[in-house]
Amino acid sequence: MVNISKLVRPNILNLQPYSSARSEFRGKEGIFLDANENPFGRLNRYPDPFQTELKEKIAGVKHCSSRNLVIGNGSDEIIDLVFRIFCDPGKDKAMIFTPSYGMYRVAADINNTEVINIPLNEEFQIDPEKTKPYLDRPDLKLIFVCSPNNPTGNSMEKEAVTFLLENFRGIVIVDEAYIDFAQEASWINRIEKYNNLVVIQTFSKAWGLAAARLGMAFACEEIVALFNKVKPPYNISSINQQAALEALQDPGKKDRAIALLTSEKERLVKALSSVDRVKRIFPSRANFLLIEVDNADHLYRELVSEGIITRNRHREMMNCLRVTVGTPAENKLLINAIKKIK
Ligand code: PMP
Repeated sequence: MVNISKLVRPNILNLQPYSSARSEFRGKEGIFLDANENPFGRLNRYPDPFQTELKEKIAGVKHCSSRNLVIGNGSDEIIDLVFRIFCDPGKDKAMIFTPSYGMYRVAADINNTEVINIPLNEEFQIDPEKTKPYLDRPDLKLIFVCSPNNPTGNSMEKEAVTFLLENFRGIVIVDEAYIDFAQEASWINRIEKYNNLVVIQTFSKAWGLAAARLGMAFACEEIVALFNKVKPPYNISSINQQAALEALQDPGKKDRAIALLTSEKERLVKALSSVDRVKRIFPSRANFLLIEVDNADHLYRELVSEGIITRNRHREMMNCLRVTVGTPAENKLLINAIKKIK
């Protein structure tokens, strides 16, 4: 077991958190004269600060306890909160494996936390050997693992993640934003075994609720309590909680979207394989494809002029574009445009 409280910033450990009106009284019925709300209107009341009903529903779908769950204003808020809980600005450090999701570094920079950058190997996998010199450093607080990884699309080998969980005395964050597309076991079912594991998921991808800004963190109760201490009291609006509750009523809709996008992804792979300028298509367990082309900057610009926006990753990975799988009609237009552009 990792000693969590030893990892927490002292000011956070000693923090007296804000106690909101709605966290002091959680009952549903009553005459609410406690929160200086306007008594009239439809959206006049503050939302449940702990999203109790939503967490119960999510826990049912994810087969975990609602006590192991935090909901963030997108997973980006979760990522920021992890830094604010554990990393003393100007002192502590976080490890990331690149190329990966850019917000880990940005969140580190915002929180004035130095990043130890370990490149993924040729197969875009973590090489545990390269992490060894750092694992015993007391100022290394966080290790971010993105699986499936954005932008490479592959999942990280179980053995490497297990190695980190068992040999690092800090927090290992496994970002599973794309797990619903991957058809593989989530690390959620390991949070009971590893108290230093934080698993992040989101409603933005497979669930189709990017606009509602709903991220999830799964962790031991001690870490959940720290999130609850530090997060803004009403971080998820009632409207957004409602949107998630509605989506959770019909998980079949999400499953059908996953099935369609997966078959569209396969269709895209087939079609793009026969295009001359496409040099390589990296295997993907997510809802996007990383493709290497002859000239990424040129193709990116030409696609924009056709009204098709892709993600140019040339600065991180030479001549690579990341393409999200769209609707069948959108994918057709993409394929035709890539074939047509000179
Ligand atoms: N993690 C990864 C790996 C992502 O790719 C993204 C979004 N691009 C996020 C987290 C952020 O998702 P959210 O919409 O939940 O903030």
